Amino acid sequence: MLHRQIFEWCPTCQDEASKKEEMPPYQYEQIKRKSLWNNATDEFQVEEFKCPKGHITVGIHQNFQYEFLLDMALEDLLNCNFRGAFFNFASAEERFFEFFIEVICIKHNISLEAFDETWKIIGNLSERQYGAFSFLYLLEFGISPIDISRKQIENKRKNKKYTVKELRNKVIHQGYKPTEKEAKDYGNAVISNIRNIVAKLKDSADSAIIKMTHKKLKLRTEEVNKLYKNQRVNIATICGGGICSNLFASKPQEISIDKLLEEMKKDIENNKRHYNLD
Ligand SMILES: [Zn+2]
Repeated sequence: MLHRQIFEWCPTCQDEASKKEEMPPYQYEQIKRKSLWNNATDEFQVEEFKCPKGHITVGIHQNFQYEFLLDMALEDLLNCNFRGAFFNFASAEERFFEFFIEVICIKHNISLEAFDETWKIIGNLSERQYGAFSFLYLLEFGISPIDISRKQIENKRKNKKYTVKELRNKVIHQGYKPTEKEAKDYGNAVISNIRNIVAKLKDSADSAIIKMTHKKLKLRTEEVNKLYKNQRVNIATICGGGICSNLFASKPQEISIDKLLEEMKKDIENNKRHYNLD
């Protein structure tokens, strides 16, 4: 199974080595952890690294949850786990709507506490979240969002066409195993929709996205300090590195799943140490 993994130098060992003007003693291989990418989707998106001398470093991820989930969906496609990919695309889409709602609230100077309180009303109910997203999108951009759930997806084997909504219900609620093409078609619809909205947000609410990143990092740092209050730990920020988020950030042209999978394969080839290929 393919899993992305992250490597860190131990800052304490690095400090000690630099005082003696030596190279740090541990190669990254020695402090790697398995399947960090997957573990990194917990609520606070933090990772614990322990070097062979026992120094603890806590890495806090700067990426947003929808970005992790999109990359996990790509990994699932490479692992031929099409149902898993479908679920991760669906979760990424839902978490992206939450991200959008939060960015717009921050743009309008809504406090995190007020946001959290209001989120409780719509949390766990994806239809309500989508409703909130749709109207905030309308307020922000003056037009209605593209509703990908009405898009048609073709199953050639059965000679049938489904809307995205019908297919999503079959997969999520009826245990249907999507074909590779269905998972990719759905993924393409989700990714191109997210990418287009991210591009629009960068024009209209870029400072709110930056503010949100800082707020989340502060929150996670406080949480880490609470968790490790009696221990000495190094805190490091982990940013970038996702295939989807890198492409969202740097390349304006149209992107497709096949192109993203090519990028991921290239990344695996060039950065073997960042993947667990067992
Ligand atoms: Zn160390």
